[in-house]
Amino acid sequence: MNPLMRGNPPLTARLEPWMERLLADAGLCSELVERFGSPVNLHDFSALERNAQELRTAAAGHGVDFQVYLARKANKTLGAIDAAVKAGCGLDVASLNELDQCLRRGVDPGRIIVTAAVKSAELLRLALENQVVVSLDNADEANDLLKLAGEAGVKPRVALRLASANPGIAPTRFGLRATAWLGFLGGLPDPAALEVAGIHFHLNGYSAPGRALLLAESIGLVDALAGIGQSPGFIDIGGGIPMSYLDDAGQWEDFWKALAGQEAGSEEITWKSDPLGAVGPGPSAEVYPYHQHPVRGQWLERILGDRPDDGQGSIAERLVARNLQLRCEPGRSLLDGCGLSLAKVAFVKERSDGVPLAGLHMNRTQCRSTSADFLLDPILIQGAEARAPRAPFDGFLVGAYCIEEELILRRRFDFPHGAAPGDLIAFPNTAGYLMHIVESASHQLPLAANVLWDGSNWVRDEIDEHVRRP
Ligand SMILES: *Cc1c(COP(=O)(O)O)cnc(C)c1O
Repeated sequence: MNPLMRGNPPLTARLEPWMERLLADAGLCSELVERFGSPVNLHDFSALERNAQELRTAAAGHGVDFQVYLARKANKTLGAIDAAVKAGCGLDVASLNELDQCLRRGVDPGRIIVTAAVKSAELLRLALENQVVVSLDNADEANDLLKLAGEAGVKPRVALRLASANPGIAPTRFGLRATAWLGFLGGLPDPAALEVAGIHFHLNGYSAPGRALLLAESIGLVDALAGIGQSPGFIDIGGGIPMSYLDDAGQWEDFWKALAGQEAGSEEITWKSDPLGAVGPGPSAEVYPYHQHPVRGQWLERILGDRPDDGQGSIAERLVARNLQLRCEPGRSLLDGCGLSLAKVAFVKERSDGVPLAGLHMNRTQCRSTSADFLLDPILIQGAEARAPRAPFDGFLVGAYCIEEELILRRRFDFPHGAAPGDLIAFPNTAGYLMHIVESASHQLPLAANVLWDGSNWVRDEIDEHVRRP
């Protein structure tokens, strides 16, 4: 296929069958944008169970009891909650609203964990009322929880968030070291005032050996806790389970080589020669690794078979020997293949110095995570009534915020058949973070509508009723 829009060099997204069918139907795409506005976030969660299954298969191969919890912060739709439950997953929530919505949606409180970085009294109260496990970050928070639990006359169920003492693991703001937790618990007037249901950690990055080290450390903490009357039943390794957006490793390498060769002042590849954080010819640490290996199941396989420190057996054997359940909280990699965003072209013009620009009815917070850029080629769909003459050009996508640097993407794109108002641009595979994690409603522009395939129709996700729309 000769795409109507292509990056220089190209980064071709892997598409789910539902995405290919949708993109082949220009009439339907236009209808969805007319009905729900531009941009619109489209969800089809059919891939979620397959993604979870890949992880389960790896765990089952080692006889490890295993559960997957969807990290809700990666996508705010209520459809994601339903899809997770339907696929047999629990939910990892990071705020009062996230927890409240899960409970109202009928999620079993025993299949929820609260991992919020900072926890309000309201959040802690709601967790206590429902006996939801709270991942404790620090002693002040633990004391807040114990006080509220005393008032409510309930015993809190907690996971201890573990910060590694291993010098090979980067320092973290999250959690406390094992010695600090043991000190805290040892100092409690009533050691049985709380139930340590599990150990929890979440590491930055995607290192499998790093997770194996933390698992070994967590198992050590479980053994130490047995000495003070606690018997945690699970270890939760958090998220960061890797995925690839690109099938072609060569494209990924070629892109970074080409970018490293871009001369200062040239805008052949990126806006204002932006290196996207790269310091050499390899991938930048400031963007997601859009191609990587191993991912999901094979990655988990490596962790389970790993034997950190000594001859005590593999991680899997250590878990099985203690009857510990392994849990994880993938966000991005569980939502792989579950979303696509569609926006409408508003205008085509030239920058004052002649560089071509295509303006979208969209702003840059609507397809972005916390990293430097979204590195997949969007897909252009010619609108049925596109009227302007279609001269080829290559240039940049700009958005609705009144800022010079308001680029939807930082890369330059070739439009071999031009583009015109009324055309649509699809951003593939955006369900994990790219729609929601930094979206804003500056200028009082409405947030994008969230729509999902319910098996027979495209319908509005009910999360949008929770948001005041101008
Ligand atoms: C963000 C986060 C996750 C999800 O991370 P992914 O990279 O999307 O898998 C899981 N657990 C915690 C505690 C997190 O903060």
